[in-house]
Amino acid sequence: MPLDFLKRKNTSDAAAPVTAAPTGSTMLPEEVVAQDYILKLYYAGKTSEGVRMKTGPNAMVELPSMLVGLAKSEIEVVDPLPIEFSQATPTIARPSEAMQWLNAHHVHSPITRHALVVLESIDAIDLAFDTFVCSLLDGEIDTSGYPEYNAVIGGIAAHWDEATGDMICRAVVGWGGRGVRGDTDRIGAKLLAGLLTNVLANQYAMGLTAVERPMPAAGRGGLVCGHCGFASAHERAFYCPKCGMRLVRG
Ligand SMILES: [Zn+2]
Repeated sequence: MPLDFLKRKNTSDAAAPVTAAPTGSTMLPEEVVAQDYILKLYYAGKTSEGVRMKTGPNAMVELPSMLVGLAKSEIEVVDPLPIEFSQATPTIARPSEAMQWLNAHHVHSPITRHALVVLESIDAIDLAFDTFVCSLLDGEIDTSGYPEYNAVIGGIAAHWDEATGDMICRAVVGWGGRGVRGDTDRIGAKLLAGLLTNVLANQYAMGLTAVERPMPAAGRGGLVCGHCGFASAHERAFYCPKCGMRLVRG
């Protein structure tokens, strides 16, 4: 039994609608022919155990020296983010978070921005409490200055231990983008070991320690440091992420 729409097609004349495709079928085929689109982004990284450091006025100043011999670009220091950037996330589909992120980090080099995108995306660092000292460690940059997908970036992430107030340093490396190469993991592991060696060789190092990252505590937050005026972005700090002095309830 013929279908109605086929009948109509057979009666076509000069007044037929121009939208009618002369050879196409409006029947749903048994299999839909789909064109696939895909983008595989691969981000990876490694962090070391923590190294407890003797706290003091020089603790922060020492951090860039821990990249000496490994850095292949300028060594940049990324400070913890103050409260106005507490939602900063490198996710462009979330404009409010993305704008905060850009406002916080547009001053940094392409290498450091790439490092922050990779390492924040995989949660290897958290600028709510980490100070991050960063450089290119291996591989090439493109003509715009951004690391290639197999370039290794990283350095030292430091935070203040909530229990003791000591500074804890971790070696951090990361890489990634539109591609992956088999030997990058091995290169990253070697660089991580090199960074950790540098940290342990520092005059203020007291030895390896288990890393307990600061945990959320309900009802606190937005604390302003009485020593340096830094407004902490997270609700967890006993110690000012910026200067390491004990925070007091505002
Ligand atoms: Zn402070």
